[in-house]
Amino acid sequence: FDRLAVPALQGLRAYDPGHDLVAWRRRVGPSLVELGSNENPWGASPAARAAVLDQLHAIHRYPDPLGGDLKRALAQKHGLAVEQLILGNGSHELLMQFAQVFAGPGDEVVASQYGFAVYAIATQAAGATLRAAPALPREHATMPRGHDLDAIAEAVGPRTKLVYLANPNNPTGTHFTIDTLANFLRKLPPEVLVVVDEAYAEFVEGGESALSLLAHHPNLIVTRTFSKAYALAGLRVGFAVAHPGLIAVIERVRESFNVNCMGLAAAEAALGDVEHLQWGLARNAEERARLADALRSRGWFVHPSQTNFLLVEFGARTAAIEAGLLDRGVIPRPMIGYGLGDCLRITVGDRNENRRFLDALDALA
Ligand code: PMP
Repeated sequence: FDRLAVPALQGLRAYDPGHDLVAWRRRVGPSLVELGSNENPWGASPAARAAVLDQLHAIHRYPDPLGGDLKRALAQKHGLAVEQLILGNGSHELLMQFAQVFAGPGDEVVASQYGFAVYAIATQAAGATLRAAPALPREHATMPRGHDLDAIAEAVGPRTKLVYLANPNNPTGTHFTIDTLANFLRKLPPEVLVVVDEAYAEFVEGGESALSLLAHHPNLIVTRTFSKAYALAGLRVGFAVAHPGLIAVIERVRESFNVNCMGLAAAEAALGDVEHLQWGLARNAEERARLADALRSRGWFVHPSQTNFLLVEFGARTAAIEAGLLDRGVIPRPMIGYGLGDCLRITVGDRNENRRFLDALDALA
């Protein structure tokens, strides 16, 4: 059947979400510790939950095709014009659309060696070619295996249409500063579009964001999601911010009604509940520090993280540790697909989940 696909899609592997969580939930039950998908263990804002229920009377109707209320709320929060916004069924959908719209056969797309896996899939699906710039070395003091923006700038050539950056990056958890990004943007030809994927931006200390550079860079696209800090992964809502002219072009491929009514209402309510957001962020920071300390004190190399997960190098024991964790009902994320077969990615859970993870790890020692 592979040959029935258009050439760009032949041989392409589908996005691999890791373990079959539904099967694991069935096997282990509610005691399963799910640390494989960077979900938010503390749950959504009560206001968002109420907003979902409030939509039940409306599910026989199509949702607002433009998501006007949510866009207005986002525009107000971030000081943007509504025309600078497009909504996605998760930010994953938007990341796919950028390649579909801006890169085709003969074009190149640049990303970092350990950049988020969707960039390669989006590029290949569009028929374009990915150039992966080497990451910073594992020995780098603050950003081991992180994005090397100099190497990325060097990889940009005359055929480059699009650059995908993740800040912070999944799976490394590393973060580069806004000054580094500003320097990078100054170096790039203005016709090359730069996507800054900020799925984990809320977790970054100091709250720096590429959104602040939009006014001076009409080639910049910033994506965000409600799946992580806002704890709405199951409802699939993301958004992108860019120059209104760029947004209008991306709109051409957007499915009508791509974000459902519950997602729209819940995201808007979650945006208004700043207290719940801050509470979750504070708990994540506390638990992340405890978990990183606990792992380092056991001798493991933990990549510094500005996110809700940790990339941990278990070296030659990685496969055995993964199997042992699974045996004990703890789900980590394998990294073989990223060429990081000596690491596992561990989502920061709540206190109890993290303890169960560490206990399972100690039982394997
Ligand atoms: N970008 C990054 C860096 C991610 O890690 C993820 C989710 N794992 C996404 C985008 C997509 O998230 P969503 O589609 O839920 O918005």
